Amino acid sequence: MKKREIKRIGVLTSGGDAPGMNAAIRAVTRMALFSGLEVVGIRNGYQGLLDQDMVDLHVRDVSYIINRGGTMLYTARCEEFRTPAGIKKAAQICRDRGIDGLITLGGDGTFRGAYELSEQGIPCVGVPCTIDNDIAATDVTIGFDTAMNTVVELIDKIRDTGESHARCNVVEVMGRQAGDIAIQTALSVGAVAAIVREYDVDIGAMIEKMKKVRLTGKRNFIIIVSEGMGKDYSNELVKRVQTETGIETRLSILGYIQRGGSPTLRDRVLATQMGAAAVSNLILGDTNDVICAHGSNIVSEEMSYAVSLDNLYKGHMKPEEIQKMPPSLKYEMDKVIAEKKAYYAYIQNLIGTVSL
Ligand code: ATP
Repeated sequence: MKKREIKRIGVLTSGGDAPGMNAAIRAVTRMALFSGLEVVGIRNGYQGLLDQDMVDLHVRDVSYIINRGGTMLYTARCEEFRTPAGIKKAAQICRDRGIDGLITLGGDGTFRGAYELSEQGIPCVGVPCTIDNDIAATDVTIGFDTAMNTVVELIDKIRDTGESHARCNVVEVMGRQAGDIAIQTALSVGAVAAIVREYDVDIGAMIEKMKKVRLTGKRNFIIIVSEGMGKDYSNELVKRVQTETGIETRLSILGYIQRGGSPTLRDRVLATQMGAAAVSNLILGDTNDVICAHGSNIVSEEMSYAVSLDNLYKGHMKPEEIQKMPPSLKYEMDKVIAEKKAYYAYIQNLIGTVSL
């Protein structure tokens, strides 16, 4: 085990906000204080680190935030941090301010940044917070459950009016790089299809099915489209469905409403477990890791592994990089990716089977 004495830690939230970030900040702060560490909250993500926008966090500073959406530390995207000079500057600031380790709450980009910073000698532990659930190394991310529940609540409302008017509603949900929100919510609202990048849905067959079941008395149809399908996809689909089925079809793009709101029980529990585990990792010297959920277990994966797996899964890895990977590592990653793909196929089949 790598050992390094940690006395003072920093915590920041970066990238897109997600419900449950506050619960994670609270858990990090309380676990660290309980363990005799000092905690510094860094506002506005990596930008705030470079600007030295910091505040010491004490027990009562994180009171009554477990139930609040957004992030009390605010978040930002930071271009300077993507440069080698920016990373070096950030590492020096950490050393100057006595920050022995950093807990970074965010998505895949945030972990890429944390990985670069750890390469400069600042131990980092990542906690996955993003509503999209687009981090391949973990089964679930903080914020995903709340966002899905928000989507379900909104689509139930859309469906009331769709049913009254005998309409089809195409609903676009968030998920630039992952269709997870789309497939789970489709199953939960009785949608006829979830259209995502990860799995080809036969639109012609879907339309034929809609025509057939309309004749059996089905009045309302919900089709969920993931944001990752691209800018004009939903509009084009609305036109096609309306033309080919003759059913009045409307589009609802849910947008940022999916990112807000009080975190669900599941997200609060996950955030508390992951936040506490991140501090424990820093203390034990198991750093440069990302905290992950595998089934009901909270585990940690090396940040370099998490980042590479993500790149491979999302098709962001160059062929020469893939060739350079140790065969056993490539085998492990292929297995994880195959399981994810099989799960998508299973859910899609289930949606198709129960939406008659
Ligand atoms: P979300 O999934 O919500 O978009 P994210 O963490 O992926 O969250 P990004 O905007 O991709 O959001 O990344 C957050 C920040 O992390 C960036 O603004 C940048 O400062 C830093 N970052 C991202 N990629 C890198 C990288 N390759 N090297 C250094 N820093 C990076």
